[in-house]
Amino acid sequence: MFQRYEGTAWEQRFLPRLTSKQVLELPKEKALVILPVGAVEQHGPHLPIYTDTLIGEATLTQTLERLNGESEVWLLPPVSYGKSNEHIGLPGTISLSATTLKGVIMDIADSLHASGFRRLLLFNTHGGNVDLLNLVSREIRIRTGMMVFYLSPGSLNVAEDLMSAEELEYGIHGGDYETSIVMSIKPDWVQTEFLVKDFPDMSKYRFLTLEGKIRFGWKMTDISVTGISGNATAATSEKGQIIQDRIAELLAKALDELCQFEITDVLGDSKAMQADGARL
Ligand SMILES: [Zn+2]
Repeated sequence: MFQRYEGTAWEQRFLPRLTSKQVLELPKEKALVILPVGAVEQHGPHLPIYTDTLIGEATLTQTLERLNGESEVWLLPPVSYGKSNEHIGLPGTISLSATTLKGVIMDIADSLHASGFRRLLLFNTHGGNVDLLNLVSREIRIRTGMMVFYLSPGSLNVAEDLMSAEELEYGIHGGDYETSIVMSIKPDWVQTEFLVKDFPDMSKYRFLTLEGKIRFGWKMTDISVTGISGNATAATSEKGQIIQDRIAELLAKALDELCQFEITDVLGDSKAMQADGARL
């Protein structure tokens, strides 16, 4: 059973286990630093409020175990609190404001840049952080010149054959997907006697969706009475294990690519020369 960072993630890839001198001497050209960003917020009657940050810690632990030993990937402690104001008022929710979270991540990025790092991955496990992190990744790029990557493992679409159509559309919080994962990584922390099913009712609407192309602003109590959106009664630890294995397999390969990526490749050689000529 998973605890916190452990194994390779903790013993070999945890950046703060190094001394300042070791950080100075690290090769930085290809090194990728991962900053996990999670949340502490209500997750219905059955899941711990630490769910999102816990899933991030487990996913990275499982991914780094599979990583090619040559990859220069370094892991930071998670930013455990996220922007969770959509759950404010529901007990246990501890939210940073968008301004605070942006400030914390920008400060961490500035510090990494000052230590000589060139590549940063914002690794997000909370839906409420998505829009902000997209914005912040661009801000860091512009302010520091670093190459910034951003991903949410929940958006990698690895569970299409395991979830119902309704879950795939609306299972955004505390449903089958997240409950299955927590069952697989920390089964004692799931209160299985309180599993619930709760989906928003969008049957009157054709164009509007929760997270699609035409959206509306919502807070959790607008769309749910239980605090979840999804079907936790369908969750199993077996599904959670399959999801985690698929994500770890995929990410272990993707992280290698992030270490190799150079942003100048995107323009290509001939366009890069033109751009140099046109720049002031
Ligand atoms: Zn969650």
